[in-house]
Amino acid sequence: MYAFEYKKAFSLEDAKSAFDSADDGTFMAGGMTLIPTLKQRLAMPSDVIDLGGIEDLRGIFVDGDTVSIGAMTCHAEVAASTDVKNAIPALAYLASLIGDPQVRNRGTIGGSIANNDPAADYPGALVGLGATVHTTTREISADDFFTGMFETALEDGELVTKVTFPVPEVASYRKFPNPASRYAVVGAFVAKTKDGVRVAITGAGPTVFRVPEMEAALNTSFTPGAIADISVPADDLNSDLHATAEYRAHLISVMAKRAIADCV
Ligand SMILES: Cc1cc2nc3c(=O)[nH]c(=O)nc-3n(C[C@H](O)[C@H](O)[C@H](O)COP(=O)(O)OP(=O)(O)OC[C@H]3O[C@@H](n4cnc5c(N)ncnc54)[C@H](O)[C@@H]3O)c2cc1C
Repeated sequence: MYAFEYKKAFSLEDAKSAFDSADDGTFMAGGMTLIPTLKQRLAMPSDVIDLGGIEDLRGIFVDGDTVSIGAMTCHAEVAASTDVKNAIPALAYLASLIGDPQVRNRGTIGGSIANNDPAADYPGALVGLGATVHTTTREISADDFFTGMFETALEDGELVTKVTFPVPEVASYRKFPNPASRYAVVGAFVAKTKDGVRVAITGAGPTVFRVPEMEAALNTSFTPGAIADISVPADDLNSDLHATAEYRAHLISVMAKRAIADCV
């Protein structure tokens, strides 16, 4: 490990002033992605600003038809939350599928979405439910937040503070996990919301995406059969040692149909 300044922030103001006074600062949540990145020297920030002391960034709150989850809330808390299980069981289930117990106890929703790994699970839930990302400066709809592989709409120094999820009528998440890491080879999040059906696919492409053809068919008939003849072209999908683009295209249909079957 090379030398850097470690600073622990206890408030959002602390975090901002530490970032502003650093030559090249970076924030750390649970360190699940950041620490390996530093070890491999893929990033060499001058200052690592630990968000672990900011209590305002933690917690799960249900208010009417909205579930709010603080950025520093770890996956294990979401998976175990009775409030989340009651309001959006698919979200608690998705959190329970992430990595292993160690990852679920350190990894955070804010770190997961800021990192935007193409195989991460939470982007599927955010886009599938039509969530809103709250930051230190603005609110960003999930549809606009995930902009590309490991890229988001966040600007330098902008912190995710919480995510708000509208409670759907019904929702389900199905993923085909990589057997070693548990990351999604393909994950399908399907939700019937007050504004219609949303289908979000993670793991398959450079970043999470919706499938408008499936959504249109499901708005007419919310059954697995409604999407029987709809397939996503393999052209823009990921192809790597875990799965070819064609296999991922096939898995999208299978996972989406299973998610719909869970809902009906
Ligand atoms: C072995 C292993 C298996 C995993 N399996 C899965 C899986 O199955 N599914 C899955 O979805 N994920 C998986 N993950 C990822 C994991 O869920 C973490 O959420 C992810 O690694 C990010 O970690 P973190 O929350 O500790 O953030 P960190 O590593 O601390 O930070 C990640 C990035 O986000 C930035 N950041 C952190 N918090 C904020 C914030 N509030 N605002 C703005 N920027 C911020 C940091 O600056 C950094 O660039 C796995 C990770 C490991 C190591």
